[in-house]
Amino acid sequence: MTDTLLADLEADARVRADDRGHVFHSWSAQALIDPLPVAGGEGSTFWDYAGNAYLDFSSQLVNLNLGHQHPDLVRAIQQQAGRLATIQPSMANDVRGELARRIAQVAGDGFEKVFFTNGGADANENAVRMARLFTGRRKIMSMYRSYHGNTSTAISLTGDPRRWPNEPADGSIVHFHGPYPYRSSFHSDSPEQETARALEHLEQTIVLEGAGTIAGILIETIVGTNGVLVPPPGYLAGVRELCDKYGIVYIADEVMVGFGRVGEWFAFQAFGVQPDLITFAKGVNSGYVPLGGVVISDRIASHFDTLSFPGGLTYSGHPLACAAGVATLEVFERDGILERVRDLGARVVEPRLRAIAERHPSVGDVRGLGLFWAIELVKDRETREQLVPFNASGVDAAPVAAVAAACKRDGVWPFTHFNRLHVAPPLVITEDELERGLDVIDRALSVADEHV
Ligand code: PLP
Repeated sequence: MTDTLLADLEADARVRADDRGHVFHSWSAQALIDPLPVAGGEGSTFWDYAGNAYLDFSSQLVNLNLGHQHPDLVRAIQQQAGRLATIQPSMANDVRGELARRIAQVAGDGFEKVFFTNGGADANENAVRMARLFTGRRKIMSMYRSYHGNTSTAISLTGDPRRWPNEPADGSIVHFHGPYPYRSSFHSDSPEQETARALEHLEQTIVLEGAGTIAGILIETIVGTNGVLVPPPGYLAGVRELCDKYGIVYIADEVMVGFGRVGEWFAFQAFGVQPDLITFAKGVNSGYVPLGGVVISDRIASHFDTLSFPGGLTYSGHPLACAAGVATLEVFERDGILERVRDLGARVVEPRLRAIAERHPSVGDVRGLGLFWAIELVKDRETREQLVPFNASGVDAAPVAAVAAACKRDGVWPFTHFNRLHVAPPLVITEDELERGLDVIDRALSVADEHV
């Protein structure tokens, strides 16, 4: 299909004019942006009106796990729209119930109930609300270097610069340092030492804040936009122990890593821990229709058997979104998506990225799991000085922007953030496409090498 792409410059101009004339974009200075007009997509590729095709190595915002225009998802949405396009959340609906049952099943023992939201931020808002009502406490702890969404509480929970212009934040949120062996806050020499010191720091923070005041600890199982930080061995098990010791609710933010990104239904399953609440969105239906939610442990769900839960939105558990969710779980099971992610990650991506790291002096670290990886770029491997330093005017993204531009010229749409390039293609990417995309990244990194 993409071999026969034709340019339609009239449509390109029209889409650009309407967009720049009238669409107020997220996270942007409106006069400084030039959004790409996208004409269509299929599988791991999308294309613009000028006739350029891009291999989508970012899965849009790491949500497009089953790729563009997956026929099963499109069909499920069309059929549901023909049957019952919408129904309010306080009525029972077949696909909503089926999706909740199936999600609870893949979450594992101890989970029966699912609360649906419209996306990831409101999933975190509601998980926090549940933790507060369940414990009768107010404070929530979350990590520096985290992203939890852009609604009021979710942006307060976020531990990165996206919070700053939104402050003052919710005053009952406390941030702590998580593990990051490559840039340890604890001067650790090994992943084991990082785990021990990060847990000691977390426990000290709990005690100093007052254990009896803390309702929940919210953690991205693998930190996503802030660097694909895979927790070192034992860290999440240690968090679980601290939560048990102090009666704190452990909330796993699985919005980016849930539904197969690392080759498990939920990423926490790769670390042998069990949270009390699991928040999800994105991959549950590849974002074809907005959907998110909270999987609730039986212990917490039963607290609300006779106590009303004060949360809900008009579109929570929308039937079109849930129909796409049911189809997603069916495709995962039928096509062995989890196995394929584990295989491609270990057999193709990891060795290729390790070889790339050897070859390019600008690559300081590569890390990840499944089809979720980061390439961290540095000016100097010894000092680990970031290739993209913070400066007085914010972040100078020039060198990384140049790498991204080189990828795009060569037909790959990358995900970049600060001094990193993330590799997060759709989970249905073919092995040939994956190799081709990695070849492009390999070539593009020569641009970064010039800044070393
Ligand atoms: N949590 C994590 C880990 C995320 O990566 C995101 C979005 O990128 C969110 C929450 C917020 O999700 P949404 O944009 O659907 O509100």
